[in-house]
Amino acid sequence: MNNLYLYNTVSRKKETFVPLDKNNVRMYVCGPTVYDYPHVGNARPLIIFDVLFRLLQELYGTNKVTYARNITDVDDKIIEAAKENKTSIFELTKKVTINFHEDCKYLGCLIPTIEPKATDHIPEMISLTEKLIASNFAYEKNNHVFFEVAKFSSYGKLSNKKLVDLIAGARVEVSDLKKSPADFVLWKPSINNEPGWDSPWGKGRPGWHLECSAMSEKYLGKEFDIHGGGLDLIFPHHENEIAQSTCANQTRVLANVWMHNGYVTVNKEKMSKSLNNFITINQLKEKHDGQVIRLAMLSANYKQPFDWNDKILEDSYKILNKWYEFYSSETLPINPSILQHLKDDLNTPKFIAEMHKLYDQAIEGDKDSASQLSSACKLLGLFNKNNNDWNKNKNYLNESEIQLLISKRNLAREQKDFKRSDEIRKMLNEGGVVIEDNQNVTTWKYK
Ligand SMILES: [Zn+2]
Repeated sequence: MNNLYLYNTVSRKKETFVPLDKNNVRMYVCGPTVYDYPHVGNARPLIIFDVLFRLLQELYGTNKVTYARNITDVDDKIIEAAKENKTSIFELTKKVTINFHEDCKYLGCLIPTIEPKATDHIPEMISLTEKLIASNFAYEKNNHVFFEVAKFSSYGKLSNKKLVDLIAGARVEVSDLKKSPADFVLWKPSINNEPGWDSPWGKGRPGWHLECSAMSEKYLGKEFDIHGGGLDLIFPHHENEIAQSTCANQTRVLANVWMHNGYVTVNKEKMSKSLNNFITINQLKEKHDGQVIRLAMLSANYKQPFDWNDKILEDSYKILNKWYEFYSSETLPINPSILQHLKDDLNTPKFIAEMHKLYDQAIEGDKDSASQLSSACKLLGLFNKNNNDWNKNKNYLNESEIQLLISKRNLAREQKDFKRSDEIRKMLNEGGVVIEDNQNVTTWKYK
């Protein structure tokens, strides 16, 4: 027994994790819709489920975990964005997918075992829809196919809500074609230049929810272990995935454990495109090493909101800088007393607290603690650069630190202590800052 405990959104409890097959532990996480550059809120599930992937590999073996994360490359948002940018859908999704992969690399995420693209799986989606029509869970109307929610008695179980509340609380697309407002689209017609595929219901394209059901089944089977995503996906997306898959396949569940990460907030408001309070991952690359973002996000419990601010980034940078003193290329198994925190529903704050203790012992000269710290960093996906490469990336002296060093240097110069003044210039340089002296005024800029 590995004694891994995971909080399951379905039962609203922490449960002992028991994989269906310990030789092939299977996890599906909803990936991006590739229409725009991801923001910091999108980075959170990438990092959290990457840590879970690493932990599962640690517990069950590197080759015994299958992690699938899809790419949604056909969607109304994509069609609109391509129109707005006066580009083709193909060019747009290609460009955004390349950028997404660069972001994942920057954040230190492992590449999932499988990364299926929706447009490569249209036949599977058509056959799933046919199955649902044949078993009377779905109906066709004017080249549309809808899932009939009333036919599925467990609908709302994941979000723990009654059907009426779900309809009232969420934006449900109203359409004369539907039998009930809660019914959702499996297939819809494509007109004009919209991307479309031939189907028994005419030229059309799949609904978003259908994509994940078809792709998870193909790569992970009809029932698998863990399904993850952000909190905002519980309804309607995950609720609909469950309805489609379990009704089509007559299975007990789609996934045994459903995990959802909390939002990233800015001043207590959810970071989102619609509120226009977002920072793209691209914008962070200039100033921060991706490991800083990673450690900052892992400092909070994954189910709680994570409030984005500069202070937490500064602190994370400083911590990493300290820890890097004990960087080692060797990786050892983590002491069970420390690992238990990660096995307790990914309690990264407690795990990180143990890492601080290891650092304190390492600094006292304890070699075991030093190598444990390095190995613990790697398990969190940190230390993905060696010590030299990290040192090159020290451009994180903040403004007040820079001002303080400049005033110390000015004092040294007044006292004609040129050795000290040169030392400080060197410190600034190592911190990524270049200074220039102009008639007793020192100006600075980042390299
Ligand atoms: Zn999904």
